[in-house]
Amino acid sequence: MSDNKTERMYINGEWIEGPGGQTYTAVNPATGENIKHFAKGDKSTAAMAIEAAYGAMPAWSKTPAVERGRLLREVARLMRERCDRIARVITLENGKPIKESRGEVNGAAAHFDWYAEQGQRIYGRTVPPTFANKRHIVLHQPVGVTAAITPWNFPIMLWARKLAPALAAGCTVIARPATATTLTAIEGTKCCVDAGLPKGTVNLVTGKASEVVDVFVKSDLCRKITFTGSTEIGIGLAERAAKYMKRLSLELGGQGPALVLSDADVEVAVKGVAGGKLRNNGQSCIAVNRCYVEQQIAEKFIPKLVQEVKTWKVGNGLEEDTDCGSMINEEGLNKVLEHIEDAVKKGAKLLCGGKRLMNDGLDKGYFLEPTVLTNVTDEMMCMQEETFGPLLPVMTVKDRDEAIQRANNTKYGLSAYLFTTSTKNLFEVGEALEAGTIGVNDPVPSTTIAPFGGYKMSGLGRECGVEGIEAFLETKHLSINIE
Ligand code: NAP
Repeated sequence: MSDNKTERMYINGEWIEGPGGQTYTAVNPATGENIKHFAKGDKSTAAMAIEAAYGAMPAWSKTPAVERGRLLREVARLMRERCDRIARVITLENGKPIKESRGEVNGAAAHFDWYAEQGQRIYGRTVPPTFANKRHIVLHQPVGVTAAITPWNFPIMLWARKLAPALAAGCTVIARPATATTLTAIEGTKCCVDAGLPKGTVNLVTGKASEVVDVFVKSDLCRKITFTGSTEIGIGLAERAAKYMKRLSLELGGQGPALVLSDADVEVAVKGVAGGKLRNNGQSCIAVNRCYVEQQIAEKFIPKLVQEVKTWKVGNGLEEDTDCGSMINEEGLNKVLEHIEDAVKKGAKLLCGGKRLMNDGLDKGYFLEPTVLTNVTDEMMCMQEETFGPLLPVMTVKDRDEAIQRANNTKYGLSAYLFTTSTKNLFEVGEALEAGTIGVNDPVPSTTIAPFGGYKMSGLGRECGVEGIEAFLETKHLSINIE
């Protein structure tokens, strides 16, 4: 795919170069090879994109929701039609297995289909008046120009999770994708362009994140910022945005626990915990970060878990039988190695994995053996921080109350997993866990149709489901004196 052509930004219906012809290059993390060159934007391009999106707001917000829905369904259709091509781009940029990339494209298309319909159900209400001469109507209106900042780990899914509801609500959008996965966002943008979305409704800006995002924060014309990324960057953004009372949605980091209770179906728990950990090589905000297993079942569960983890094949994501591809970059890989080293130094027992893989042509990329640790303690980094890689620490606990207490003992609250066959446990533990999404015997709980977001330091607001469109609406009260 590498060529010298520069992929451009998209503003006001035109593909444009960066100011001064500046560019940057994307690298395939599996091979170290250059993939593409991209036009690099700056403050001036961000400002241009805001103007374009603001100019397109009146017509787009007044376009009937049914017509907006028709266009969004066409975006979804094009994404599915181009699934193989887009999936290949995702794998080249991000390293993830091609089968996961295909699933991601289809998941992203589902967002456009679902919000194409949901945009037609933005109902207001009438409120019974207190006085005979009054009438009260509550309206929901698009919040306005929206900037969407997305990470590299699910580069088309998270882009779609923001664009689909924002556009369905009648907002115009400026996407600022992660630097590492710009081409994926360009592919998504091309689907919007080819579907016939009017100029200015969808824009794509690149460039140094702190500079570009600062323009969004300070602009009066940009009314909303929706951000997915790390808690650290999210906090900084919230601090800056507070001064301008900017509407914010924040989807941030996680540190998901998995609880395996003594009544769990062992096979389901083994597959669930391994899958919840290793999907996208553990580089998922909702990844299982740590596992608590009740002592009565630990002896059965742990060896089977190790057996299962060993079956996950590490390799270049473009190969059909790869289960774990390359990590995104050296920094990501080193963080996992640091967590392993720290744990082992503090007494953890390594049951499998633990090393970088350099054989069979993997030496140019960032490949790690999927790793399982036991004898872990709360002081270890892997039990405190978001590891964001294929490392699974397993702690044996005496009962379910200890599992709940430990699971909640974190500043994060994005996801948690529960493996049980008891209905009582399903409700009591499900209700006690402090996280926005709980997967019960389900390692893939996130879906277009249900709300997604974090408790505590994992974020503000919700994406997906009915709530996902509310994030792009303002509420207005029309008070009418009829006399
Ligand atoms: P990140 O470093 O926070 O980056 C996220 C996005 O913010 C990227 O587009 C990045 O641009 C941009 N950015 C960087 N510096 C910024 C700044 N000063 N101001 C504003 N934006 C800035 O996160 P990441 O490493 O890409 O993604 C991994 C993190 O995202 C993990 O913590 C993960 O849990 C979280 N995540 C959360 C969810 C969720 O839904 N809750 C979903 C997926 C991932 P550059 O690419 O140019 O640095």
